[in-house]
Amino acid sequence: MLTWLRNVYAAVVTVAQGLAITIRYWFSTYNKDRKAFTEHFEYPELPVAVSPRYRGFHRFDLTTCIACDQCAKACPVDCIYIGKERVEGAKGFAVTGFTIDYTKCMFCALCVEPCPVDCIFMGGTLDLSSYSRDGAIVDFSRLPVEIAWGRSSLNPTAVAESKVIVEPVHSGPNQ
Ligand code: SF4
Ligand code: SF4
Repeated sequence: MLTWLRNVYAAVVTVAQGLAITIRYWFSTYNKDRKAFTEHFEYPELPVAVSPRYRGFHRFDLTTCIACDQCAKACPVDCIYIGKERVEGAKGFAVTGFTIDYTKCMFCALCVEPCPVDCIFMGGTLDLSSYSRDGAIVDFSRLPVEIAWGRSSLNPTAVAESKVIVEPVHSGPNQ
């Protein structure tokens, strides 16, 4: 009996707490000084702030990458595609493509850990809107380094522009 009464009490209190939050937000809509969401954040100039450790779209430094494939092997959904070619008379590879398919990526960051040269990280970018699925497939080797490595500059316009470059902006033999 005591347990039953305790359960009834807990249920009533929980529902009352939920309703109190709802009512508080309902009344706040009548506050004349309340700003709309778009007045706080004027996208894209003033985007919503994300936490410093937010896992957004990757940052990738092509000039450091040694095309070792460790990140691609670690990816559980196989969404990293690395193109590389041997360079005559030089050590290592030239990276000819570093594509991440964001229609498959689940932002787990497992590709970041094994990188021996720390050239791939999860970035702070949260938007990559596009009109087709192709827009979500990003070849970082076609982006200028300051955009691919920039913390928040991987934007849809830059990515779209990267798709019309005929020659890849790849690095030479790895130093
Ligand atoms: S974040 Fe995860 S799913 Fe996305 S590319 Fe890296 S390992 Fe693959
Ligand atoms: S693990 Fe690092 S160095 Fe190796 S291919 Fe991936 S990004 Fe490049």
